[in-house]
Amino acid sequence: MVEKMNVESFNLDHTKVKAPYVRLAGVIKGNNGDEIHKYDIRLKQPNKEHMKMPALHSLEHLMAEKIRNHHDHVVDLSPMGCQTGFYLSVINDDNYDNILGALEKTLRDVIQADEVPACNEIQCGWAASHSLEGAKELAEELLAKRNEWKEVFAE
Ligand code: ZN
Repeated sequence: MVEKMNVESFNLDHTKVKAPYVRLAGVIKGNNGDEIHKYDIRLKQPNKEHMKMPALHSLEHLMAEKIRNHHDHVVDLSPMGCQTGFYLSVINDDNYDNILGALEKTLRDVIQADEVPACNEIQCGWAASHSLEGAKELAEELLAKRNEWKEVFAE
């Protein structure tokens, strides 16, 4: 890349990665010693594939709700605008394998889910745009490649 940019992922060469993967995208230290670890959870190969909006949206609701049953220090889980993955931020947990474990349990919950949490006009900003089946398919796809999550770059 020519110029170093403020946003970490703008400095990532998206042509060199191999989805799916889970990548540590940054660590921010607070003045009191707290640390936030931010992860790039990439489901789809950049510029080749993307998640459809209703499936992505439901997977976001399901993961954001359920991952907090498996990890006590989740700050945020949000989708990328390019629809190829999610960002997960946690505080005071620097253990990568612990994050992978929590994600795996969360995806197993998604596959078992009977409904999308909070997919109504009171609790969501686009309640009509959801797909439980689509979310489950994405979760199954990602779990099927569990052994590849640590491989971020193509050989
Ligand atoms: Zn929503």
